[in-house]
Amino acid sequence: MAIIVMKFGGSCLTDKNAFCKILDISKIYKEVKKVYVASALSGITDLLLKTAEMIQDDKNTDKNIALIEKKHIDIIEQIFKEDSEHYIKAKDWIDDKLSELEDIFADIKEFGLEPYYKDYVLSFGEILSTYILNQYLLSNGLDSIYIPANKVIITDDEFNNAYPLYNLTNSRTKRLLIPLLENPNKNTIVCVTGFIGRNKIGYITTLGRGGSDYTATILAHSLYDIGDDNNIKVILWKDVDGLLAINPKYVPNSSLIKNLDYDEAKHIANFGAKILHPKCLEAIEKDKIPLEIRNFDKPLEINFTNISESSDKDQIKGISAVEFATIITVSSGSMVDVPGVLAKIFKTISKNKISVSLVAQSSSEISTSFIINEKDANKAIQALKNSKYFSEFFEIKWENVAVINITGLKILETKTKAEIFNALFRKNINVRAISQSHDELNLSIVIDRGELVDAINIIHDDLYEEFKGLN
Ligand code: ASP
Ligand code: MG
Repeated sequence: MAIIVMKFGGSCLTDKNAFCKILDISKIYKEVKKVYVASALSGITDLLLKTAEMIQDDKNTDKNIALIEKKHIDIIEQIFKEDSEHYIKAKDWIDDKLSELEDIFADIKEFGLEPYYKDYVLSFGEILSTYILNQYLLSNGLDSIYIPANKVIITDDEFNNAYPLYNLTNSRTKRLLIPLLENPNKNTIVCVTGFIGRNKIGYITTLGRGGSDYTATILAHSLYDIGDDNNIKVILWKDVDGLLAINPKYVPNSSLIKNLDYDEAKHIANFGAKILHPKCLEAIEKDKIPLEIRNFDKPLEINFTNISESSDKDQIKGISAVEFATIITVSSGSMVDVPGVLAKIFKTISKNKISVSLVAQSSSEISTSFIINEKDANKAIQALKNSKYFSEFFEIKWENVAVINITGLKILETKTKAEIFNALFRKNINVRAISQSHDELNLSIVIDRGELVDAINIIHDDLYEEFKGLN
């Protein structure tokens, strides 16, 4: 029987009405085996983080714990009959978990916010919400079991941004999930906490903010590797229809992207409107496991985004933007043809844990430009300036800019690029740097920040025909 791993984000867990919709979805997908991955209730992860970061402020800690409690109690009061079995179980769970959380906050106050503590604290959002979902399904007569993901997903030690160790995760999946899903006599909905895993020695890790998407794809990956059935799909339920070609904040009537392949989707997820966790496709692309992004309010809607191995090759899929970027340019006339300059630049930047998103260097090698997030700019510039090597031989310049990314296989055609630059030329928009790696279906264009909206609109208007096929 087919297995579907579905992820319900915080916007699917807001009130009684939302929980009823999960029940409707469970009915629609009655015939398949289901794994439900839940995120924390909206705003809880942020609240947990802020409390941990301001741990010396006892009043703030007390206030936030009370708020976290209230948000969960509000939900269980709506979805369960008062004093029913499932209400009591959920209430006891909330009480237990919050007292555990209080103890951790006390430890953090004493020992400091080590990365390990941060992940431990952040895990509580999903631990609370997923258990409540599990109790809700049971209270409606469905068979369901709660599984904390730290029993199944084993990761490396990179706290806050952990990477799954698939071999170990596969063995856990085999032991814990497969027997539940392959039991022909029961249709148990397996409810797994999103976002969290554990390292080999047992500390809780998290998969990066928005990581519940990733949990869903990691589980799909392991179920595919281990289970008998390769008929596996992932559905991410969101509060939007799917991925849009352009963020409607720039172009109001932007079209829905119905089909795209993993590479295209990775580019769009990286730059786009944070609808998809950028790393989550890594887990499913090798096995070509399809992923659907669907609107939670319209479970039967026939238009949604499907990410799979096939795509409409003849299209531009999307334009996305990084609004707050800084371009740093390192140049030197004397360092031309000297091996190792790029290595030194990126070593300096990476030592400061700053991620570089775009690199441009012409073959004359006189200058190298790269893009980082604006919030990291000061740190990066100081690091380069403090390095004897760079301060002696190089000039370092920087500027706050925006980056436009145009994605789709059609970008490989020179004609498409000509049309894009022609559009920018007509609006007199100055292109500050460009980058497209070999065979890459994404073109990145750096422009002045003030020209971003104009630039996106003119490219969209001029290349309208290329997007049209999307609808
Ligand atoms: N609750 C986590 C976050 O807010 C993970 C998720 O929502 O996917 O980042
Ligand atoms: Mg298999």
